Amino acid sequence: MAAYIEAYNSGRLKEVSDQATKILASCVLCPRRCKVNRLKGEKGYCRTGAEPRVFSYLAHHGEEPPISGIHGSGTIFFSGCTMACVYCQNFEFSQEGGGREITHEELAESMLSLQKMKCHNINLVTPTHVMPQILTALLIAVKKGLRIPIVYNTSGYELEDIIGLLEGIVDIYLVDMRYNEDKASFAYSDAANYSNYNRGSVKRMYAQVGVGEFDGQGIMQKGIIIRHLVLPGGIAGTGGIMRFIADEISKDAYISLMSQYTPYYRACNFKEIDRKLSLQEYAYAQQAMEKYGLGNGWTQDSFGLARFAGVHIKPSFD
Ligand code: SF4
Repeated sequence: MAAYIEAYNSGRLKEVSDQATKILASCVLCPRRCKVNRLKGEKGYCRTGAEPRVFSYLAHHGEEPPISGIHGSGTIFFSGCTMACVYCQNFEFSQEGGGREITHEELAESMLSLQKMKCHNINLVTPTHVMPQILTALLIAVKKGLRIPIVYNTSGYELEDIIGLLEGIVDIYLVDMRYNEDKASFAYSDAANYSNYNRGSVKRMYAQVGVGEFDGQGIMQKGIIIRHLVLPGGIAGTGGIMRFIADEISKDAYISLMSQYTPYYRACNFKEIDRKLSLQEYAYAQQAMEKYGLGNGWTQDSFGLARFAGVHIKPSFD
């Protein structure tokens, strides 16, 4: 059973939803701490007011196998972001305003229609700045029959206390660990002190959900998947991140080591990242995983195909 069902039944979901909505009056939902009154329509760094803004929602078959499964992950792409990565592949709606404002009821309906499409979960992409709106929509959706797990798909630029509110509500964290060093996070994502915020929040997420639980088909029901996008020239600091995961999270943690970096958006203005990753750079990243004894997760071969050690999806014929 999805965690939020129990939270709904006990009244905790409503309590947390009210508490989170109050934060919007002087918004400190993320490390930017803009303190704008979003309930009155003011906008901070994420350019989002009181209502959620959504670019699209669909059954996504390209996420990690235990998330996409057989029928796809019910993915909702939110507009706006608390970071500003110069290489963002979703820049059209994360940075440039694509998408439209919707009501909480519409957001709830989109969750329900994804469930109707047999998606395995509700995958909230870039949810940080609209977390209160998501919880309000969730209250409506649960009442109307939403039952599938929730995936909190975040850049990892999070405040620990805000993640703490989500205990017993979020089932699965799909979280980025992008940079080992703040110099890089500031230069390429305009995100100061990323590593501290990121590490603290990942620890908190892990404490809530543990390594991972799967159903009989190999679909994740609860847990954490740490995504790491390898950047050219070792800029992401892969070795340091792998060491942190091994020492402070778990050697069994599921890691998605991503090789698909492409210089989208404004990356052409940064010579050092204005290219794809070399095979050798990716091989170094794989070696770092091995060096620290991390064996669970997904790496990619030279054709970009995922290889995995751990859980295998079993076909479902229902
Ligand atoms: S969620 Fe948006 S308004 Fe709130 S602190 Fe973060 S960037 Fe600022």
